[in-house]
Amino acid sequence: MREPDEVDRTALQEARERLRSADRAVALTGAGVSAASGVPTFRGEEGLWRDYRPEELATPDAFTEDPVTVWQWYGWRRRTVADRDPNEGHGALARWTLRRPGGRLVTQNVDDLHQRALRAAAGADPIPDHARAVELHGSLFRTLCTGCGRRRESRERIDVSGDDDLPLCGECGELLRPDVVWFGESLPGDALDAAMEAARRAEVCLVAGTSAAVQPAASVASVAADAGAVLIEVNPEPTPLTGRADGVFRSGAETILPALLDDDPPPDGPRVPGS
Ligand code: NAD
Ligand code: ZN
Repeated sequence: MREPDEVDRTALQEARERLRSADRAVALTGAGVSAASGVPTFRGEEGLWRDYRPEELATPDAFTEDPVTVWQWYGWRRRTVADRDPNEGHGALARWTLRRPGGRLVTQNVDDLHQRALRAAAGADPIPDHARAVELHGSLFRTLCTGCGRRRESRERIDVSGDDDLPLCGECGELLRPDVVWFGESLPGDALDAAMEAARRAEVCLVAGTSAAVQPAASVASVAADAGAVLIEVNPEPTPLTGRADGVFRSGAETILPALLDDDPPPDGPRVPGS
């Protein structure tokens, strides 16, 4: 493995070549990919809402005890994301995924910035099936009925001020919850299966913007590496995966991903540490 301070244009060129030539590839992304769009990560300085830690709100128990506060937090997160745009990192990933029918974009993000970048890059809606991001942790913009289990796309503003205006199911009248995976809950089986299958088949695995602290999402990368994939990490900070990585780029995803993935990278190249 290369030490981060040795990362240079040769490493970038090698990684580019791996990513360009691989037909079967998997990319695993996390909150860091959306940081440059102004969407806070959980572990960054802006990750707190009021004085709560995400672990105190993103749980089934928190929702049972205080659905008003949990919905206020999700309402704020939905508004934050709705006001933001995909960045160059989302754009580069979208173009790369669309060019690669044997590739899979797997995300832990619950924002819709990958999907919006994919629609923009494809110039079409719906986007081709192979290019749809696999959402391991659900979506801020879907609701799940706690009564009848119905899932629904949901983009309207949700402003909850008390018990009386909690969102309710139009079918059965029961309380709606965000269709996201909370701490202690299982991941959607179809999404996890699709991610793991892509990981086992991948020649190369690109991991960007995740602390790799949340399981089983992080194991998508280790399953790929165990099966022989070249592992490339993009993150300003070291992670538990860094030791396994064949290439490490300690820089923002918004800068490095276009340089790694685009056929025509920016002419001046990225601002890579040490180069
Ligand atoms: P995390 O908050 O644990 O880690 C974010 C990682 O991004 C860190 O390792 C950090 O060093 C890195 N990072 C920060 N800025 C970056 C940049 N510009 N480019 C590249 N990397 C950068 O996030 P996680 O690993 O995704 O796991 C946290 C959980 O929080 C997930 O379950 C996810 O669903 C949820 N979450 C999602 C969002 C979102 O959808 N945007 C935001 C916050 C949290
Ligand atoms: Zn219902």
